[in-house]
This record gives sequence, C-alpha cells and structure tokens, in this order.
Amino acid sequence: MPTFEYAPAPESRAVVDIASSHGLFIGGEFVEATGGKPFKTLNPATEEVLSEVSEATADDVDAAVRAARSAYTRVWSRMSGADRGKYLYRIARIIQERARELAVLETLDNGKPIKESRDVDIPLVAAHFFYHAGWADKLSYAALGDNPRPVGVVGQVIPWNFPLLMLAWKVAPALACGNTVVLKPAETTPLTALLFAEICRQADLPPGVVNIVTGAGATGQAIVDHPGIDKLAFTGSTGVGKMIARSTAGTRKKATLELGGKGANIIFDDAPVDQAVEGIVNGIFFNQGHVCCAGSRILVQENVADEVVRRLKRRLTTLRIGDPMDKNTDVGAINSRAQLQRIEELTAAGSQEGAERWDSGCELPSTGYWFRPTVFTDVSQSHRIAQEEIFGPVVSVLTFRTPGEAVAKANNTPYGLSAGIWTEKGSRILWMADQLRAGVVWANTFNKFDPTSPFGGYKESGYGREGGRHGLEAYVKTGSDQ
Ligand code: NDP
Repeated sequence: MPTFEYAPAPESRAVVDIASSHGLFIGGEFVEATGGKPFKTLNPATEEVLSEVSEATADDVDAAVRAARSAYTRVWSRMSGADRGKYLYRIARIIQERARELAVLETLDNGKPIKESRDVDIPLVAAHFFYHAGWADKLSYAALGDNPRPVGVVGQVIPWNFPLLMLAWKVAPALACGNTVVLKPAETTPLTALLFAEICRQADLPPGVVNIVTGAGATGQAIVDHPGIDKLAFTGSTGVGKMIARSTAGTRKKATLELGGKGANIIFDDAPVDQAVEGIVNGIFFNQGHVCCAGSRILVQENVADEVVRRLKRRLTTLRIGDPMDKNTDVGAINSRAQLQRIEELTAAGSQEGAERWDSGCELPSTGYWFRPTVFTDVSQSHRIAQEEIFGPVVSVLTFRTPGEAVAKANNTPYGLSAGIWTEKGSRILWMADQLRAGVVWANTFNKFDPTSPFGGYKESGYGREGGRHGLEAYVKTGSDQ
C-alpha cells in the first residue's frame, strides 16, 4: 500500500535558545563544575552538537547534597503542605506556558518525534506537577500511615528515553511530600532538565530544593554512594539497578528501582484485528521502542497469527520515519550511537538464532542514528530477542493456543513491568490480568499513562511504585520511622 505523499511540516526551532555551554544547578544558581571533563550533547537525528555540558564530580555532588540538606532543614520540610502545593502549581503552569519550547528542546536532544514530545511527554509532565500539587496538603488523608513526614534529601538518577517526563515522575512526588532533591539526567539528554532548573528559578522555588547535576555513570554513582542521601530513586537498566541495590543494602537509604521490561502484548482470536494492530504499533514503535514497558513481544493466538502479522507489516509500511521535527513523523531517531549498536547486535543475534526478520524497507536519512521498524517471526522462547530488552523499534512475534499457554509464555521472562490483552471477552481480561506477573496490564489499549495510576515492576523490573497514591509511599516516613 503506497504511503500518502505529505508536504513537509517542520516545527520551528526558533522557539528555543540553546546556550553553547551549561553549568550545574546547585543551591538555586548555575555554577561551574569543579573539574570534571565537559561533554557534548548531540541531536541524534543530525549528529549536530547542541551544547557542551558540565560533568559533576563527587565534590560537586557533595555540594549539591549539602545545598539540598540546607534547603530541607531550613525551608522546605518546615513549609506547610498548602504552601508547597502552591510552588508545584506554579511550576506546572510555567511548564504549560513554555510547553512548545520544552517539546522542541526535548525532540532536538532526544530524537523523538515532535508530535510525541508535544502531545504526550510535555502534557504528562505538567499533569504530574498538577496532580502532586494537589496531594501536598492532603498527605494525612492518603492512607500512607501515621503522621506522614518527608524522608529528607532524595538522590534521583533518570534515563534518556523520556528525559523530562522521568524528571517529573521523580521530582513532583518528592517535593509534594516535603523532600529536596539532587537529580542527574542521562548523559545524552540533559537539556530539558537544565531548562527545568531555569523554570524552578522562574517559579521562585527556594534555592536548594531542586539541584541538577549533569554527568555520566560516575556522577550517578557519586549520588548513589553519598552518605547524605536518604532515599534513592532510579530508572534505567536492570544492570545498574542491581548495582544500586547492592550498594544500598545494609545502609539506611531507602531505594525505589524502575528497571527494564519485556512486555507481552497478547492478541486473542476474538480481538478486533485492526485495533489490535494499532495497539501493537503504539506498544512497540512509540518513542522508537525506547520504552521500558514496551510491548516488545507479541503473543498472538495461532489461528489468527498469519492475519495479524500480514496486517501489521502492511501498517508498518505506512509509518513515516525521519526528521523528528516534522509534525508528520511517526518514528524518530535512535537516541545514541551506543543504543543503535545494541539494537543492531541483538537483531543480528535474532537472525543467527533462526528467527525470520522483516523490516519496512523505508528510506533512512543519511546522517544521524536510525533503525527501521522490524518484525521477527518464528521466534522461540529461548531466543535472545524473546528474552532480552532490545529497547528499539523491534518486535518479536510468538504464538499460543490457549489462555493458559499465553500466561505461561508472557510470564516466562526475568522481567515483569507491563502486558497488554486484546480480546472482546471481559471475563478473560480479568482472569488474565490476575495471572500476569506485570505491574501494569492494559486491556484493549497500550502505553496509556496517567499520573493517578501507579506504575512499577515485578521481579527484575524493579520495586516500588511511581504515580498515584502508591507513589507517595516511597517519599514519606510514617509512625515511628527514623
Ligand atoms: P543506564 O541504566 O546505564 O542509564 C540510566 C541512568 O543511570 C543514566 O542517567 C546513567 O547515566 C546512570 N548510570 C549509569 N551508570 C551508573 C552508575 N554506575 N551509578 C549510578 N547511575 C548510573 O542505561 P543505558 O543508558 O546504558 O541503557 C542500557 C540499556 O538499559 C538499554 O538498552 C535498555 O535496555 C535499558 N534501559 C532501560 C530503561 C528503562 O526505562 N527501564 C531506560 C534506559 C535504559 P548516563 O546516561 O549519563 O551514563
């Protein structure tokens, strides 16, 4: 089926003004790092250097933790919940006012299509701040336990797939509960976090309540190891998550970990096929598949498998891949060369292990990091592409005959973050949801997010919940907790 010809519809980048270099945000000021090696952040769609960013050393992290402690004891933990809520509302409104600027900057630094940063990421960021602003003065009514109190200084390390949204998931509940934060954005996507620092200043947030330190793994490690941190919140790979769990074991630090996934998107033979195909596309090709809860394994009932795969392939030939700043683009750039290499390595393993590989054959831009939407069929449970998180626009198709077999296959993974069920039978949805070991189960939809809804994993997908009333639990002490 030929793709419609669309005229280009480029979003203007004139709305953002990217400084050629950035310092760290500590104690309410942008400051020079004390000696780390500055690094460049690129536009992954063009490989153009966007800016040079400071690398925070252990000394800089220490300064940030001290600023956060001082703001915690002097101001933020003493402030009434109603007053904290006012700051959060103010931040939420500024995010809405500056939404276009934030969306453009996110797309430039991350490579995701502008229609996603504009219509999904940034509206959800604002929604998280609005939602948690509402909780700030109602924590005693949230059934968190006796006398909920802030934990103290929170260290937060976030990944590159939803840079500002992951910041919002971390910062909004922490602040609502009266904590102060030291946050490190990912090395490849620091720019919206630095713009958020500017928004904190615009909102007159007391200095030191939010501190942003940029850098790579060593900076994250310095946060994890710092004795002045009371709680850690991490989103990223299971490997780094395990390392954090090891280093906090035996300390008084609380930790929540949101790690990888290998979600099953399960299609029964009574599902409306075209809707299910849209759900598959949204489940794995949204955000180039850089989504921890992506539906990266399709489990399709055997008698409709050929039909579903045929329609899926036809649909994929209509996806537009290319310039993320074009409003018609469906699939943008892979976030980094390193991630592209990882996707290439895992997909090569899929072919070597005997799975059948298909891609849409679309043209790709000549510069930047790109990968065609790819489907593997004839996949078996033991293949690496059925077990390991690829974190790219690649889906593995497996089949099943009975609901019991679907559950067994869906649960046969070290992860347990998400799953989807497509069927017209409500009783089957409820039965399946009960059996699936996944933190989020979507029925006849996929990748729907809402700040009121808790999100988190089972098994190697981590522990703790973010969002909703449950997400507040990690950010308070109750009763006689020290
Ligand atoms: P990482 O887990 O390395 O990165 C996540 C965050 O942790 C980044 O801010 C990173 O910093 C930081 N970090 C790295 N090393 C340490 C450390 N030793 N101590 C503390 N913080 C650290 O993920 P990658 O970017 O390497 O991605 C690798 C794979 O992880 C992907 O292919 C994907 O499978 C999975 N992943 C899963 C995510 C999820 O949401 N579940 C998100 C991202 C990745 P920096 O980026 O600066 O190195």
